[in-house]
Amino acid sequence: MTAPTPFSRRSTRQIHVGSVAVGGGAPITVQSMTTTKTADVEGTLQQIYALAAAGCDIVRCTCNEPEAAEGLAQIVPRSPIPVIADIHHQYKMALAALDAGVHGLRLNPGNIRRPEHIKAVASECRARNVPIRIGVNGGSLDPALYDKYGGITADAMVESALQEIAYFDEVGFDLVKISVKASNVPLMVEAYRKLSLVTDYPLHLGVTEAGPPPAGLVKATAGIAALLLEGIGDTIRYSLTADPVEEARAGRQLLEALGLRERKNVDLIACPSCGRAEVDVIDVAKRAQDAFADRQLPLQIAVMGCVVNGPGEAREADLGIAAGNKRGHLFVKGINVAVVPESEMVDALVEWAEFINEHGTDAAIARADVAKAEREARLDRTKLLDDKGADANHAQERIVEIRKRVASDS
Ligand code: SF4
Repeated sequence: MTAPTPFSRRSTRQIHVGSVAVGGGAPITVQSMTTTKTADVEGTLQQIYALAAAGCDIVRCTCNEPEAAEGLAQIVPRSPIPVIADIHHQYKMALAALDAGVHGLRLNPGNIRRPEHIKAVASECRARNVPIRIGVNGGSLDPALYDKYGGITADAMVESALQEIAYFDEVGFDLVKISVKASNVPLMVEAYRKLSLVTDYPLHLGVTEAGPPPAGLVKATAGIAALLLEGIGDTIRYSLTADPVEEARAGRQLLEALGLRERKNVDLIACPSCGRAEVDVIDVAKRAQDAFADRQLPLQIAVMGCVVNGPGEAREADLGIAAGNKRGHLFVKGINVAVVPESEMVDALVEWAEFINEHGTDAAIARADVAKAEREARLDRTKLLDDKGADANHAQERIVEIRKRVASDS
């Protein structure tokens, strides 16, 4: 298991969305949003359960009509994770969502602009101890700020957030987190950097309308990861044009990859394949990825294309498999533990991974006939080297030629 990498993080106040802490040194959380009609209680809950299983910590549902608020009244008590109501134009929907018992609100300051409405919602939230996210969005910026700044700029988005905070201050409300999202990555990064200098409220990171994967994943990761690596950000959301489960998975995977959350799922490492590969590495890696997708095993597992270099290159993995001579060589922490037929490679990985997860790597090595596995592995390696040579890419031959040429030119 890879040790978490500690990044120094900007210090922020802490708020609670239901039972989940955000900011103030709490683990960075993953958020997503349901795509069902909120009035469809069973459909929405089904999606929320799938999101929670994929690593989502806090879920948001739209509250855009009275039926949605009524749906929330039934969803909130049955949800496994805290529920935030997303409010755009109608402040009364915010009040209705609070009546439904939601754990948080998201208000878009560009869409609810009358101060008395904003303050009415904040007062009610204060009375109920419910936090609000000020969700500034470049695409729906207050027109007055758009005109003042001559377009959507980082300063305009920051000012929008600060204006909202000023209204909250007037009614003594401070259970706040803020987002300043834009679909343009450099703009979004600049806005969050500027915001982090003028407030210590926790920040919710996201690249809005990032689009479908894979380009949407790349965009969202570029913006969110850049800020997290600077210590900015307390909770994140990938806004993908995709099943929201993909958003939750991506968020969770990013935090695990950066060492910002404990590993909960398999970290699958796989070689990029090359001319030495003894199997279709892409296919085996994909099958392994599918096999581990719904298994919560906090292990690093390697899929390597050849037994000549693979085990050495993936020595640090908890468990790995390398292909060679129509067989898969399993290794635990770099030690050969078994050799299985090529067709059983993925099944064997799953069986060993589950054993390691339950009993540990030492027990896995202890149960193996290491001497036999090493003997068979050595035979395969020797045969491959005899067939193909240690230098399958003919690099040494080329180096000899280069040296000859350089010597003859001098
Ligand atoms: S492990 Fe083997 S097949 Fe994979 S990239 Fe390395 S040398 Fe090539």
